[in-house]
Amino acid sequence: MILVILDKAENHVKKASLEAISYAASLGEKSGQKVCGIIAEGVSNLGDLNKYGMSEVYEFKSPSYIDTQQWTEIISQAYHLLNPDYIILSNNSLGKSISGRLAVKLNLALISNVIGLKKNVEDVVIQKSVFSGKASAWYRLKNAKGILALMPNGYGLHEQKGSYTKILNLDINIPDSKIVLKDRVLIKGKTPLSEADIVVSAGRGMKDPSNWNLIEELADLVNATTACSRPVADSGWRPHHEHVGQTGIAIRPNVYIAIGISGAIQHLAGVNNSKKIFVINKDPEAPFFKAADYGVCGDLFEILPKLNEALRKAK
Ligand code: FAD
Repeated sequence: MILVILDKAENHVKKASLEAISYAASLGEKSGQKVCGIIAEGVSNLGDLNKYGMSEVYEFKSPSYIDTQQWTEIISQAYHLLNPDYIILSNNSLGKSISGRLAVKLNLALISNVIGLKKNVEDVVIQKSVFSGKASAWYRLKNAKGILALMPNGYGLHEQKGSYTKILNLDINIPDSKIVLKDRVLIKGKTPLSEADIVVSAGRGMKDPSNWNLIEELADLVNATTACSRPVADSGWRPHHEHVGQTGIAIRPNVYIAIGISGAIQHLAGVNNSKKIFVINKDPEAPFFKAADYGVCGDLFEILPKLNEALRKAK
């Protein structure tokens, strides 16, 4: 059995976890194992998970907030009850916090930043992203069991012609949390970056945070979520949750529009899985042009007002 740890936001399973199911389904096809999931109760669309190849979901009763130590304990108990060969989870903020703890607690091998699975070979050979996405490496587990933490937006969603997903209960004793959640502020409005179809992103070429009205207007016109480079977030020009790249969020939108961003390798590491990349930069030597599908070489302060105006008229 393959056990996928399902992370939820409000009452739906996160895209990162759907991606983990997709990966588990490919692995299950290869190794002849069924794909099961574990999730805290309260999700409305569990029956839809069969679309990605999920056979059974184990729900457990939980408090409204589960901290990462509690998660580690929950998955350890589930591991001993269900005895899966693989545990698969997204290497998102939850995954990063618990995968190492689980590996130690359960004495299992851990491969992080997984992005693929080798085809046309009999055994399970796992592809992992290395050197900020510049290269990939292939790994084989020495023992039959292990934990695979998927790089968010690294494998993608793959729908399967699945059948019905069975929903079962799992009896877990959740220890009391050692911390108290005092407040939780949800950022409302736009689609979260990791799930966005179109992203408009800007960098230090914007010169000043007061110029971001140009970016927000463009994002509104094309129905996009906004993002930024790291120095922009580090300088406090934009909030940290907009920072994309190696040390920020990794994204895989259909369209990524990069404005006044140089295209350093650490930035590209988080965005180079985008289906189409558009770049606006005044420097013809900017590295981003090498990764771009379309590029405009010119001054963003001349181009953006005209672009926004044309889009407004077209609407
Ligand atoms: P700059 O490098 O200053 O580039 C600004 C660009 O704007 C230039 O290409 C310039 O030609 C262009 N420009 C200027 N004016 C105009 C104009 N008027 N019109 C059009 N174009 C203009 N960076 C990330 O983004 N994400 C990460 O996750 C990340 N992680 C990192 C991790 C490590 C360990 C390290 C060492 C660095 C990391 N960085 C990351 C930083 C990265 O190396 C770059 O420094 C950063 O991405 C540069 O940001 P920028 O492109 O906004 O700024």
